[in-house]
Amino acid sequence: MRLDKLLSNSGYGSRKEVKQLLKNKVVTVNGKVQSKGEAKVDSEKDVILVGGEAVHYQEFIYIMMNKPQGVLSATEDNHQKTVIDLLPLEFQEYEPFPVGRLDKDTEGLLLLTNDGKLAHFLLSPKRHVDKVYLAEIAGIMSEADRQTFEKGVILEDGYLCLPAKMDVLSIDEEKATSEVHITIKEGKFHQVKRMVMAVGKEVTYLKRMTMGPLQLDEKLAKGAYRLLSEAEIAILR
Ligand code: URA
Repeated sequence: MRLDKLLSNSGYGSRKEVKQLLKNKVVTVNGKVQSKGEAKVDSEKDVILVGGEAVHYQEFIYIMMNKPQGVLSATEDNHQKTVIDLLPLEFQEYEPFPVGRLDKDTEGLLLLTNDGKLAHFLLSPKRHVDKVYLAEIAGIMSEADRQTFEKGVILEDGYLCLPAKMDVLSIDEEKATSEVHITIKEGKFHQVKRMVMAVGKEVTYLKRMTMGPLQLDEKLAKGAYRLLSEAEIAILR
């Protein structure tokens, strides 16, 4: 891999900051000063020092984001802002991608990583990882709806969803609105919105609260992110 990428991924700042570091001739590879960012290095074989200190290369990055509305859960888009655009350059250097998608107007827990194995593990349809969503709904969700969710909702295209949980948090009779928690084990396109549509109501606001054992850190403001702790990474595996 390129030396500048390795240094950036090892906590030495953005590529721009790393460029300055290299220019200052404080980086050595196998005992020789290396000032070219594009120089190819092998993190396992080469001895890389910055100011005489060994570089501890970190291959993977795990980020929790409270995705705001209005950004795409994609890695790039020609016209619209993506969740990657919200990250600082030194995180972008790791080339993280979102684990699963949230709609543009959905908020909440989004895991971003470059660990393809973990992403695959979490997204595998066979594993049925629970995702809990908070939904505001136009219409009153009833006990009959709860039972339909439990049995498996049939979507408009005939797809029979896996059993899902629907817990009513509050009902506003006057406005005819409901606030509910919906737990699903799948991740079909617009799944929660379509499930609610199938029982004759409409999702007006959606926020993902959990993904498997990982919970959204409520201290994260909309659009904010933080690295996962070692314990959070461990429980995901
Ligand atoms: N279900 C939806 O309808 N939208 C999302 O973003 C996530 C789940």
